[in-house]
Amino acid sequence: SETATLSGLNAWVREFAALVDEHKEELTRLDSAIGDGDHGINMERGMAAVLAALDGAETPSSAALLKNVGMTLVSAVGGASGPLYGTFFLRLASACGEVTEVDADTFAKAVRAGLDGIVARGKAESGDKTMYDALAPAADALDEALAGGSSLRAALEAAADAAEAGRDATSPMPARKGRASYLGERSVGHQDPGATSAALLFRAAASVLG
Ligand code: ADP
Ligand code: MG
Ligand code: MG
Repeated sequence: SETATLSGLNAWVREFAALVDEHKEELTRLDSAIGDGDHGINMERGMAAVLAALDGAETPSSAALLKNVGMTLVSAVGGASGPLYGTFFLRLASACGEVTEVDADTFAKAVRAGLDGIVARGKAESGDKTMYDALAPAADALDEALAGGSSLRAALEAAADAAEAGRDATSPMPARKGRASYLGERSVGHQDPGATSAALLFRAAASVLG
């Protein structure tokens, strides 16, 4: 469909949890190279807590669902990624609103609000070698594809492709934010773990939303 329904958003969260679980060793290996080796553990623990929280919760609207996800990530994940992903989902929640279905343009605006929330919290800019470097190109590709008349599904596929290209482009960057920035030039040649999980978030959306 041309909308993101409440059940679609639910499926997105569950698909993201499944992809994180599938890729947790890779995320931890990447974070071992340039961080403290816990990104896979952080994301896996966070998304397991999200699924557990959703099982016992009434989430009758997009805002209720996404707010639950965001609050759970903020409280369950100790690392930098918890508050950042948490903020993304909390902003997404406000922008989607107390509805059971959002149209493609509203969803794209919500993604943009989520990205703005990550920037407000972490101050990352393009090229700092963070999750921003996967999320920002994805948000841009989503807007561009929708403006060009693509369906939500096709636009999300373009966004996922852009996120993966953005993820790959983090390898040659020296890190300027987060723990990896302590390594400076020694972080060059390693893919950013947060950009890698962020690409999974958009791949999950492309496979179940719209
Ligand atoms: P920690 O670094 O606290 O152990 P994680 O390992 O879970 O947390 O997450 C690390 C990821 O968080 C990095 O790979 C990067 O993508 C992201 N990150 C760190 N700091 C920032 C920031 N200020 N803005 C955006 N993303 C950030
Ligand atoms: Mg870490
Ligand atoms: Mg840590």
